[in-house]
Amino acid sequence: MSTTSVASSTGLNWTYAPAPETADPKIRSRYELFIDGRFVPPAEGQYRTILNPATAEPLTEVAEAGAADIDRAVKAARRAYEKVWSRMPGRERGKYIYRIARLLQERAREFAVAESKNGGKPIRESRDTDIPLSVAHFFYYAGWADKLNYAFPGARARPVGVCGQVIPWNFPLLMAAWKIAPALATGNTVVLKPAETTPVTSLKLAELIQEADLPPGVVNIVPGGRPTGAALVQHPGVDKIAFTGSTAVGKWIMKALAGTRKKYTLELGGKAANIIFEDAAIDQAVEGIINAIFFNQGHVCCAGSRLLVQEGVAEILITKLKQRIRTLIIGDPLDKNTDIGAINSREQLNRIESLVASGREEGAEIWQPDCPLPEKGFWYRPTLFTNVSQAHRIAQEEIFGPVLTIQTFRTPEEAIERANNTPYGLSDGVWTDKGAKIFKVTRQLRAGVIWANTFNKFDPTSPFGGYKESGMGREGGWHGLLPYVELEETA
Ligand code: NAD
Repeated sequence: MSTTSVASSTGLNWTYAPAPETADPKIRSRYELFIDGRFVPPAEGQYRTILNPATAEPLTEVAEAGAADIDRAVKAARRAYEKVWSRMPGRERGKYIYRIARLLQERAREFAVAESKNGGKPIRESRDTDIPLSVAHFFYYAGWADKLNYAFPGARARPVGVCGQVIPWNFPLLMAAWKIAPALATGNTVVLKPAETTPVTSLKLAELIQEADLPPGVVNIVPGGRPTGAALVQHPGVDKIAFTGSTAVGKWIMKALAGTRKKYTLELGGKAANIIFEDAAIDQAVEGIINAIFFNQGHVCCAGSRLLVQEGVAEILITKLKQRIRTLIIGDPLDKNTDIGAINSREQLNRIESLVASGREEGAEIWQPDCPLPEKGFWYRPTLFTNVSQAHRIAQEEIFGPVLTIQTFRTPEEAIERANNTPYGLSDGVWTDKGAKIFKVTRQLRAGVIWANTFNKFDPTSPFGGYKESGMGREGGWHGLLPYVELEETA
């Protein structure tokens, strides 16, 4: 039996025996497209090999939807919208969504293992965050389905129609839940395109939707790459686009939709500042920093990737942070002890490596622990950069990996200016013992989500979304209903 040794911050060595999660993820050897309630082969006969990023070995093979398949899916969604779903009373729609939530809850372990095998994230993340939050989203929006008449006083909410939804690879099932649940609750039908590297849990969700006996065509799932996403965005039969992904693709979508009647929401990239004041509880802040950027390999749009530390505590904080990083366990995503899993793809690993190289070239100082990395698969060590200037690429661009830049500040005003000085505005964090300071600082930060004395906490009742180049529109909570309805005044 192999063991993992880590040095604790007290200098003691701890040894962990492997504790693998053994639930069967029930991944088929091949998946077809899910259109009109059935799994069907793609018109052009193309399949993509999906890898397990922890080994770089094939996990399954997934059909690639082409333009003809998108057309089929949109037409199926239109039929389902007009004949069944938009006419169904909200309380009946709600029952279907509750059923999806319950089935997913029953199979949570199986879905968690599938998510970790396909995405590379530690089982602790998929088991404790991705799957429970996905379930919670379906439960939450199921509850709205029969209450829409009370959600918008003085107005009647009508569904928008057929929704094209495009999602990224970092939270595959959760992003599908964020998109599908509010769309169904408000009476819309859906064509969802998962990311090219992580379609497995969306397709398992399709199986579960079949089991829940959802009317055919209400949800269609069409995996594929960029051309598939572009065909969905540009299809004239789609009434609304909901996109989560990079700012570059979000800008392309905005241009593609300019002048059309389509509604759209964009959830894009981020470069969150995590601001630590001298009066913060330092040990808690260290844990918060680790949670904000290193768990989940930094594959989080709202990750606290820029640390801003007040000068008086910078030295002690960086020392404690390095001690804590040395104890992090990197390796098998299915091991319950693992803190940092695999990088999602070779392409993403290349991007991290190239941005880290730019940091070195531009003069920032790099620190990494000398922990061993698995030989196969895609891996990256947790990385700190000090001596970072605001103009460095690593301080401006989204790295989307376990890489933290550290800058210091003297006054709250300086921290606020630095925090706001990127094109993004998705999330930020503030750590201080003083409640008044929290309010004073957070009022001036231009970010859609701000955490105080914690980080990366989510709840389906709370809206999520960004300012500036981090996107437009909100998902989650009552706000998350708005993009999926047209409001007509009743008074
Ligand atoms: P990406 O933009 O490359 O891809 C996202 C999705 O868009 C994928 O399904 C992809 O196939 C598809 N796509 C690519 N080109 C397209 C096109 N021209 N037309 C239509 N679809 C297209 O992003 P990614 O690398 O998969 O994901 C990482 C990004 O997602 C990061 O920037 C991250 O910050 C962002 N993200 C944001 C949020 C949020 O809520 N704001 C949440 C998760 C991830």
